[in-house]
Amino acid sequence: MPIKPENKKLYPPNWKTLSHLVRFVRAKGRCQNCGRTHGQRFLFSPGQIILRAAHLNQDPTDNRKTNLRALYQKCHLAHDCSDNLKRAAINRFLKRLFRQPTLFDFEERAPYDKINSTD
Ligand SMILES: [Zn+2]
Repeated sequence: MPIKPENKKLYPPNWKTLSHLVRFVRAKGRCQNCGRTHGQRFLFSPGQIILRAAHLNQDPTDNRKTNLRALYQKCHLAHDCSDNLKRAAINRFLKRLFRQPTLFDFEERAPYDKINSTD
């Protein structure tokens, strides 16, 4: 997956070199999940296998060897999917939580509504 511009500052300055070492030296140009080869064409759709260096714990600041793995697009998405679903569920929960008026809102607003009301 390409790095989002807003996340670029989370990656180390030598990320390109590190990523290359993970994908082409350590993994020898093969997905470390399924073994597909970098540059290989897809059989039934346009495009080709592109290896990416994936952070297994989703933390781009954690560049330990044990946290980096060469994965092609589909394997990378599958790996990230469970974390993305968890994140989406947490975001939905937080949105619902903060959309609700809080007890503080009721206590502060109610008396002023009565005092300032001209009806
Ligand atoms: Zn794979």
